[in-house]
Amino acid sequence: MQPLRGTKDILPSDVTVWQYIYQTTLEILSLCSYQEIRTPIIESNSLFQRSIGNATDIVNKEMYTFMDQGERRIALRPEGTASIARSFISNKLYQDSKVKRLWYFGPMFRYERPQNGRQRQFHQLGIECIGSIDPIADTEVIRLANKILHKLGCSSYKIEINSIGNTEERFTYKQALIEYLLKYEKDLDKESRKRLEINPFRILDSKNKKTQEILNDAPRLNDYLNTESLNHFDAVCENLNYLNIEYSINNKLVRGLDYYNYTAFEMKSKELGSQDTICGGGRYDKLIKQLGGPDTPAVGWAIGIERLLLVIQNTVKTNKKINQTYIATQGSNAKQRVWDIIHLLEKEKISFELDLSNSKLIKQIKKAYKSEAKICLILGDKETANENITLKWLNENHQETISIANLIQKLRDVL
Ligand code: ATP
Ligand code: MG
Repeated sequence: MQPLRGTKDILPSDVTVWQYIYQTTLEILSLCSYQEIRTPIIESNSLFQRSIGNATDIVNKEMYTFMDQGERRIALRPEGTASIARSFISNKLYQDSKVKRLWYFGPMFRYERPQNGRQRQFHQLGIECIGSIDPIADTEVIRLANKILHKLGCSSYKIEINSIGNTEERFTYKQALIEYLLKYEKDLDKESRKRLEINPFRILDSKNKKTQEILNDAPRLNDYLNTESLNHFDAVCENLNYLNIEYSINNKLVRGLDYYNYTAFEMKSKELGSQDTICGGGRYDKLIKQLGGPDTPAVGWAIGIERLLLVIQNTVKTNKKINQTYIATQGSNAKQRVWDIIHLLEKEKISFELDLSNSKLIKQIKKAYKSEAKICLILGDKETANENITLKWLNENHQETISIANLIQKLRDVL
């Protein structure tokens, strides 16, 4: 049996670094009022159609959907923001009119061609700051992405930022872009020609050389922005300057999702190949209203954990877990009495492994050596009969039989 294409098991040897990522993020985000939220993995298909947009690759080509027994069209979530906006509305999180700062960590699903750093089930860590239009909210979230990535040992990335304006500005720009590109239609790559009708902004991302050449003289989104958009963008940039967060302005950065406006940004690693975007985000001021909630501005980002791991896996050292004790037992009395020993160890927070092999004591002790534990606790027939227990130091040639009543004090002294 093999796992499904594009999915991976996270084995115990890998899971420690995942725990480290989660724990580090939790610490950083708790300090500045972000609270974790967990939304369902399945949602109504229409949620993503209405938010991410029908013309986007994510909804158009990449979504896992199915009909359930009640004839509902269900989707496995391809990203987190739409679900959180839905949850914000359905749980009336807007009732107290306070800014909601939320974060999440979990699996997402997209039917894509699996490659290094691209899976069908992958994981995102993301934050959403909901309820503020102030450019310092944009600054806060960008600063936090930067902080988390640095803390996790990832610093070899570049921040690219752009303003994609509001719906009207983008609409006017879209017309101008289409008009310009139509003149060169036959010279565009095949994919871009298709996009010309359904999602012309995605052409700006094209990796095709000829297409990029054509784009060099294309109208620039920036020139279509009005004062309000420009001021917002300037304020975000000034704040980042003040914080000494390096970034570059990329006028072609539009992001693949329909719901963004104003600020859009990406963090791209220099160490990764074509799947180089570790973090993507932006402002989405109309999404919540569009989904039926109150008019609520918001800004957020998502980090792709698998891609982050490609960058940090060699730098993060997580120690192999070695237990303090290994427990060997012999005889049926010992196998009962051992539970009392275990209770004592647990209370004292001493780690242990109980031998389950049912083999001779000598074999169990061999296993204890292999486990690299410090001490083997031996509960044989003789020990049990006398309320004793034997401690065998596994890295020294030394053992000692003591009363069970003194065990914890002894372990406190020697561990
Ligand atoms: P890409 O251009 O690489 O397809 P995207 O624009 O589709 O990325 P977003 O929707 O912005 O990605 O998701 C945010 C982050 O999630 C990405 O920057 C990336 O790190 C990660 N990500 C997205 N799709 C996948 C995937 N299929 N496998 C692994 N990570 C992914
Ligand atoms: Mg994608």
